Amino acid sequence: MDFEFSTEYEDFRKELRSFAENDMPEGFDPDEADKDEIQGIRQKIAKKGWLTLPWPEEYGGMGAPHLKQMVFNEETAYRRIPANDNAISMLGPILMLEGTDEQKQKFLPPIAKAEVRWAQGYSEPQSGSDLASLQTRAVEDGDDFVINGTKIWTSGAHEADWLFMLARTDPDAPKHRGISFLLVDMKAPGVEVRPIIDMAGRHNFNQLFFDNVRVPKQNLVGEYNRGWYVGARLLDFERSGVNRSASARRTLEEITDFAKNNTLNGKAMSSISRVKNNLANMAIEVEVSRMISYRIGYLQSKGEVFNKEASMGKMFGTEMVQRIYSAGMDMLGLYGTLQQGSKYAPLNGRIQKGYLASYSATIAAGTSEIQRNVVATRGLGLPRA
Ligand SMILES: Cc1cc2nc3c(=O)[nH]c(=O)nc-3n(C[C@H](O)[C@H](O)[C@H](O)COP(=O)(O)OP(=O)(O)OC[C@H]3O[C@@H](n4cnc5c(N)ncnc54)[C@H](O)[C@@H]3O)c2cc1C
Repeated sequence: MDFEFSTEYEDFRKELRSFAENDMPEGFDPDEADKDEIQGIRQKIAKKGWLTLPWPEEYGGMGAPHLKQMVFNEETAYRRIPANDNAISMLGPILMLEGTDEQKQKFLPPIAKAEVRWAQGYSEPQSGSDLASLQTRAVEDGDDFVINGTKIWTSGAHEADWLFMLARTDPDAPKHRGISFLLVDMKAPGVEVRPIIDMAGRHNFNQLFFDNVRVPKQNLVGEYNRGWYVGARLLDFERSGVNRSASARRTLEEITDFAKNNTLNGKAMSSISRVKNNLANMAIEVEVSRMISYRIGYLQSKGEVFNKEASMGKMFGTEMVQRIYSAGMDMLGLYGTLQQGSKYAPLNGRIQKGYLASYSATIAAGTSEIQRNVVATRGLGLPRA
């Protein structure tokens, strides 16, 4: 067992730190940046070959070890550099495992160059946790599938060029066995995107409608009617990630600094037991979350399955983030509720914003209850209900 990273990785961390200090736009704030500014930064990172480090060179990667990617993800999340996206962390790895050579050649290089945006079309109005009950239909017609139905909560679909989605291709088969995984051009005739505004007032969610949308059969990933297994494997990539513990560590440092430099009822905040206890609990949780993520990185680097670990990491990490923001709001009092931009908002309203956003994180990519079900059944061998 070795709890240290090699010199190569530590040097890489230094290189990333230097990038954050010297190559990022002055005063950059990912919460306030628009999509083009973010895309510009990602393209700059892509030119250095860092976006898709472990991918083979022919697809735009550097053939680096998986752990190097984990170091990259950790440093960029801590430094609030918007590098990762669902195509890099979810679709790319799945195409590498399940895609045809033609699909890899067509879809991977533009992802590695940060030239395209993807969205994920899984959930439907009646199918969330019980995703395998999904009803959007894809029917074979000559060289195409024809899609009809609707998807909901599709993050970023209004800015996406492509969609990876699950559709029902055999309505008579048992529900897990009649689903296929398809890649859909968002500009295809018949795709309609309608915005959904969340409780923080942001437009990230959308509902999609498919009206006889034609998708070439070359865009089927994996076997026909076996898309459930492709889609479920992708969820393991979606649920894992060291980014949660890294950004939580940054937030914890900021609220700890705040406690050191502010008073409450005339007393130094940092001397109040409740504040100290909260911060100490959070420090422990951040470390636990980081260790679960390192374990996933290790399993991934060995090519091993990390299914229950991904669920543990997702559940613990997102609930930990909620607790950190709650502790932050508790410390900041009513000022903590002020929005970004107000001169009275401590830490530029970041805690308030994170607090609101943290609630949806325990729902996205499968709720905490579903992650606990995975740990109980696949981790502990307990029976399904
Ligand atoms: C920020 C965010 C981004 C998202 N982005 C996307 C996206 O890009 N693409 C996409 O396809 N979807 C996306 N989703 C949707 C997300 O995957 C679903 O919201 C999630 O799977 C839960 O489904 P649901 O909302 O239908 O809740 P439901 O399934 O209706 O669940 C309601 C409640 O019942 C509980 N429950 C349900 N079944 C069980 C069970 N078997 N055991 C115990 N408890 C259970 C749930 O935990 C939950 O508390 C996103 C969601 C969020 C919050």
